[in-house]
Amino acid sequence: MQSWYSFELDGEVCRVEKEDTHGSLAAYLAQLDPCFSHFADDRAGCCPQLVVMGTLEGDRHRFRVIDAGGTMLAMLAGRQVWTPEGIRNAEPEHPVNLAFLDRHFECGEARVDALIALTFEGYYRPDLRRQGQINDQFDAIESRTVNVPAVRETAAQVFASTEQLRHEAALRAERSGQESTVWTGKKDIFGDRFTKQLFRLAERKTLHYVDGSKRRFFQPDNLIELLRLKREYPDSLFVAGGTSLSRQVGAVEYPNLISLEGVKELSSILTSEESWEIGAAVSLTQVGEHIGRECQPFNKALRRFASRPVRNRATLGGYLATAWSSGQLAPLLMALNARVILLSPDGERDAPLSQFYTASGRTILQANEVIRSILIPRSNVSLLSARGVTSRLCDVYTVGPRRTLCEPYATGAFAIELRDRQIAKAWLAYSGIGEKPERAREAEEFLAGKAWEEKTLIECLGILHRSVEVAERDAPRSEPAYRKQLVGTLFQKFFYQHPRPDSVRPESLTATGEFARLDEPFFDVIPS
Ligand SMILES: Cc1cc2nc3c(=O)[nH]c(=O)nc-3n(C[C@H](O)[C@H](O)[C@H](O)COP(=O)(O)OP(=O)(O)OC[C@H]3O[C@@H](n4cnc5c(N)ncnc54)[C@H](O)[C@@H]3O)c2cc1C
Repeated sequence: MQSWYSFELDGEVCRVEKEDTHGSLAAYLAQLDPCFSHFADDRAGCCPQLVVMGTLEGDRHRFRVIDAGGTMLAMLAGRQVWTPEGIRNAEPEHPVNLAFLDRHFECGEARVDALIALTFEGYYRPDLRRQGQINDQFDAIESRTVNVPAVRETAAQVFASTEQLRHEAALRAERSGQESTVWTGKKDIFGDRFTKQLFRLAERKTLHYVDGSKRRFFQPDNLIELLRLKREYPDSLFVAGGTSLSRQVGAVEYPNLISLEGVKELSSILTSEESWEIGAAVSLTQVGEHIGRECQPFNKALRRFASRPVRNRATLGGYLATAWSSGQLAPLLMALNARVILLSPDGERDAPLSQFYTASGRTILQANEVIRSILIPRSNVSLLSARGVTSRLCDVYTVGPRRTLCEPYATGAFAIELRDRQIAKAWLAYSGIGEKPERAREAEEFLAGKAWEEKTLIECLGILHRSVEVAERDAPRSEPAYRKQLVGTLFQKFFYQHPRPDSVRPESLTATGEFARLDEPFFDVIPS
């Protein structure tokens, strides 16, 4: 066991000794230096305390914006952290810092700091290339009292400068046949102080840390070691992204924590012709980056899920284990026919996601079991035609008091496999309606073999109304009668947005989408 670990803070190595295993990065920063004293003001729901984490994900170096108040300090061992102060001081001429000079965002300093961190991450994001993605980067922040046009202008200016850099780097790389490294972010095309430091990051080492109160934090790097530790410390708690745990600190004591993030088998995505096997410790952002282009409903669901900083940390395994009855991803994963693979010292077992939840907040997960991965079948044209299916329609809808960072009233996800206009198989799943996320089996059975037309829809609405049970819930503005109505209206929406086998793309009809000029690039290449 060791009583210290280190991470890099604003470019300097920071040695942490005997710090509480439960402590957050924000709490640590607040007592480290008076210039970080504002991190003591922990009002997470109101304004997150954002910093940027430099990390190595597989073979890719990435900057990820995270909430310092919701991140356990020990999780940063072997990683880098840039605070907004550090970003400002390290390179005042950096495009992000220049863009924030003399702009007025009509908000307090804390929110400007949050905007700097989000813009900094966006500047280095290789996948952020369209104006519409500004929403994805800032949404949950913007929705709270800032000057939105000023944020958009700043973001467009900064992200256009990256696109230009990337375009120039691509032209150079084309000559050496390495163009793809530019777009995947595997190569440092910036060569600035931040990326030079980032690209020096090596793989994280295993960690066996003990704090001043003899509580332990383990970070094993393989599954065998993980299971061994769980056997040796049966009272230990698995921790993945830590988003749901960090907020309980003070209320709950965990003698030993076992971090899943370093376990290679849990941190990778295996892609085969038929499926994606997503390691349980892969963050939601990474899942979106990997499968979102092919599986667009997944990215649509993520857009309504918390905020970018939370998605950067929350993992798919952590999401499932939390078993929140209103969570937006479970219905979609059911509609995608996903399976959960569980592992314990006794061996491996798997179950369809629809059998994973047993009651409100409960799952089939045993105390000594870990979620190893989530298997999502792919449904590209060749796989569909091998099963004699001509098309697959899939979409997801969430209804809530506002777009993000709130408890949704309900989510419905639907998938229909068609042979021409006839339904071969249907998946209808909801969360926020019953005690737990659930499929509407009776309606699914009814739909099989019917034509995908309005008459079928109307008959199906009656079955949904009768068969889907609505749980009493102590949530304001979400009476059972209203949620019962949503069961039908969400499915109706699915039908009217996807009436034909060729209406495959998920629909995203929002006002913000329209004025954000969704598909416009930040930077128009002028042909030479
Ligand atoms: C600000 C905020 C906003 C949020 N908004 C939403 C939202 O819009 N929609 C929504 O659905 N949820 C939301 N959540 C909840 C969020 O989904 C969970 O906090 C998150 O998914 C948990 O993932 P994690 O990796 O951080 O898990 P952790 O916090 O690390 O762990 C959560 C639990 O799961 C267990 N666990 C983790 N991984 C495994 C595994 N592989 N095997 C077995 N057990 C495991 C842990 O022991 C722990 O009990 C929000 C949370 C926050 C903090």
